[in-house]
Amino acid sequence: MRRVRVYRVSSLVIRQRDLGEADRVIILYTAERGKLSAVAKGVKRGRSKLAGGLQLFSHAQVQLAAGRSLEVATQVQPIELFYRLREEMSRYVYACYVAELLDNLVDEGRSDRAVFDLLLATFRALDAGADPPTVVHAFELRLLSRLGYGPEITHCVNCRAPAKTAKAGFSVPQGGVICGRCLSTHRAVALGPAALRAMRELVELPVEQLAARRLSSSVRDELDRILRAFVDYQLSRPLRTVRFLVR
Ligand SMILES: [Zn+2]
Repeated sequence: MRRVRVYRVSSLVIRQRDLGEADRVIILYTAERGKLSAVAKGVKRGRSKLAGGLQLFSHAQVQLAAGRSLEVATQVQPIELFYRLREEMSRYVYACYVAELLDNLVDEGRSDRAVFDLLLATFRALDAGADPPTVVHAFELRLLSRLGYGPEITHCVNCRAPAKTAKAGFSVPQGGVICGRCLSTHRAVALGPAALRAMRELVELPVEQLAARRLSSSVRDELDRILRAFVDYQLSRPLRTVRFLVR
C-alpha cells in the first residue's frame, strides 16, 4: 500500500470554490509552500471540524495529505478567524481585493515567507480596525515590490538620480517616479510631494504601525489613481473586486 505523505502548514484562505454538494476546494497561501489548493471534504455540511479554520481569510494550522492531483485537508486548527473581514462589508471588499491581487500575481509551488507575513499582517490590521485604503495601498506597494514589479519610488526611473519629493511625476509604463529635471522631456502623471512622501512611508513603516494612520483624502485620491493604473498594468487579467472598492 502506498504511504500517504502528511504535512502541516500555517495558512491563510485566499479563495474557495464549491466541489460537488459537500466539498470545497480551498486556495491557501501558506508560510511553508506558498500558494496551494486543497480539497476540504464535507466542509459544506454542518458541524464539519474543518469548517472554522477554512473560512475565507482565516489563519490556521492545516494538516494536508498529498493527493493524486490536489492535496486533501485532514485536520484544521484555527488560529485567527478575522470575523470583521467577513462581517463588515467595507472591510470585506478590501480583504477580497488583497486576496485576489495576491492570487493573480503568484503561481502555486513558490514559497515566500515574507509574502505570507505581509498578508497576515494586512489581514490583522484590517480586522483590528485600521483604515482599509491606507493598509491596502501599503499592501499593493509591498507585494509588487517583493515580487519584483516595483514601483521605484526613491530614484528617477529615467536618469537614476535620487528623486526629491518637491517636484516629481510618476510613469506607469516606466514603473516609477520621474524626477523634476526629466519631467520636461518625459511623459508622467503628476505626483504631489505629500503623495510621494506617503508612498515612501507606506513601504517603510511596519504594517502594524500603519493601523494608526489614515491618508488625507487628497493624498488618497492621488494614490488611488496612480496605484490603480500601476497595479492594473502588471496584471495578466483584470481583478473582479476592484469595482467594489469604496471610493
Ligand atoms: Zn530623472
